[in-house]
Amino acid sequence: MQPKQLTTSLFVSQAINVEDVKTLAKQGIKAIICNRPDDESPEQTPFRDIEKAANEYGITTHFLPVIVGQISLEQVMTMARLVQSESEPTLAYCRTGTRSTTLWACGQVKNGADLVEILSKTRELGFDIKTVLKKMTDSGKALSGQLSYDIVIVGGGAAGIATAASLLKRTTDLSIAIIEPSASHYYQPGWTMVGAGIFEAQQTEKPIHDVIPFGVKLVQRSVTAFDPDSSRVLLDDGNYLQYSNLIVAAGIKLDWSQVEGLNETLGENGVTSNYRFDLAPYTFELVRNLKQGNAIFTQPPMPIKCAGAPQKAMYLSADHWLKAGHLNNIKIDFCNAGAALFGVKEYVAPLMEYVEKYQAQLNFSCNLVKVDGRNKEAWFEHTDAQGNKSRLSKHFDMLHVCPPQTAPDFIKNSTLADDSGWIDVDKHSLQHTRYENIWALGDVTNTPNAKTAAAARAQAPVVANNVLKQLGKAHSDMCYYGYGSCPLTVENGKVLLAEFGYEGKLMPTFPKWVLDGTKPSRLSWMLKKDLLPEIYWQGMLKGREWLVASR
Ligand code: FAD
Repeated sequence: MQPKQLTTSLFVSQAINVEDVKTLAKQGIKAIICNRPDDESPEQTPFRDIEKAANEYGITTHFLPVIVGQISLEQVMTMARLVQSESEPTLAYCRTGTRSTTLWACGQVKNGADLVEILSKTRELGFDIKTVLKKMTDSGKALSGQLSYDIVIVGGGAAGIATAASLLKRTTDLSIAIIEPSASHYYQPGWTMVGAGIFEAQQTEKPIHDVIPFGVKLVQRSVTAFDPDSSRVLLDDGNYLQYSNLIVAAGIKLDWSQVEGLNETLGENGVTSNYRFDLAPYTFELVRNLKQGNAIFTQPPMPIKCAGAPQKAMYLSADHWLKAGHLNNIKIDFCNAGAALFGVKEYVAPLMEYVEKYQAQLNFSCNLVKVDGRNKEAWFEHTDAQGNKSRLSKHFDMLHVCPPQTAPDFIKNSTLADDSGWIDVDKHSLQHTRYENIWALGDVTNTPNAKTAAAARAQAPVVANNVLKQLGKAHSDMCYYGYGSCPLTVENGKVLLAEFGYEGKLMPTFPKWVLDGTKPSRLSWMLKKDLLPEIYWQGMLKGREWLVASR
């Protein structure tokens, strides 16, 4: 047995026996990972004997057997976690050391390490893992640091990651790159719950590397422009990335600067928003501390992502004040630039019951245009039935702002956009109306659905399938029918589960006798609080495609 050193604390070796454990203990090894299945060969020492011997020397053991040629992402991630949790000197072994080395190397590459460096390091130690690593990353094409992929995805948010995962579920022989500048990935639907003190902000954030599907190359840059005639995108470092098919999933731009004075006071003076990860906890801080005064909740002109989120913030805050006995001392205003409480009529009546219960004042055609945080004054532009505009100001003690939203500038300024700035796609196939190798989904498209993660969940398999159909790797087309969902958190413990498609057609997931989405229910609350986060992290982002049939 001759252990080879991969890192300061990780060694790999060929198969070991009980005697070797004693030597390893003397050498200071504190943990052993066995990557070899038992019974591979007659002379092999079973893991239980290694474990028993290790116990005698106080060495921790882990059994993570892998079969040659069948390493899975799950095993790679488990290995990475084991290596990370065992900070003390650790030895991993299999028959020759190659499988242990491969598992470790795949985890490193998955976490963003340079592939070429990892390959040269393992080669130095005598392990040739290039072929298997090639297979497990992006069909080998990223090995040489090349700038061309079968599929390039712009945006590693809900829609981008889900589509990559859905592609990989169907085929593994394509090279895929995701271009995403952010170091974190967020579960934005959880921010409503953070603003109500039900979730911790940390529950809604993961490092981007943890959600990039295995085998997909993460390019940590921003796209600045498209060159569809040459099938390439321009990055902010000046490089071009070439593609066969492009999938645009760059989300929506939150345009805080459209409201004068807002940027200067966000996060202080009682001005908050659940639309930002770092501010959602401040919402709950304000709610908890407010015992009397004026609370204003705003909603800008459509389209916005999760059109229900501005009023969800209001209901959960009001419910807190009601239960704390302060509601009678707090005047609630809902100032909505639009003309209706909710776009689908079936949900308006049950929502109105809560508006009345919380004694909230509804102000329609009332658009927030200016904030003076220090003096706690907010200005609104009101448009009357004749189209005449007037300004009015309101004093606030707490102001929850949903910011104005537009297509991102680099989308608006591109030839991919329609006149209103959104990517112009066919609303059923999600293929670009002019460029047949370009597709888009999520908040960035001009499709007339509710801009929600639920919509992206339904769209991702459609785009994945239709791209593959075009590449001759799928048989039939798939259609998106406009599904979107908005779990309206009307109180802490009850949700009105709005689910609808194009033209406001109701598209309930469950039969009415199980869950009637037009009635507030505890079951829907459980779905929102306990199940949907799991469906997102473990289903949608991993290509499991739960709750997406015919949407
Ligand atoms: P995003 O998830 O926003 O991802 C877009 C990605 O593109 C980002 O990671 C961004 O960094 C990246 N990007 C931007 N510019 C570039 C560039 N130039 N180059 C490369 N990458 C770029 N949905 C629900 O289904 N249910 C809910 O209950 C719900 N509640 C919500 C509550 C709140 C407060 C908020 C804010 C949202 C809520 N949503 C909800 C909406 C949901 O989060 C979005 O609709 C969903 O995230 C859209 O996915 P996306 O991939 O299109 O955009």
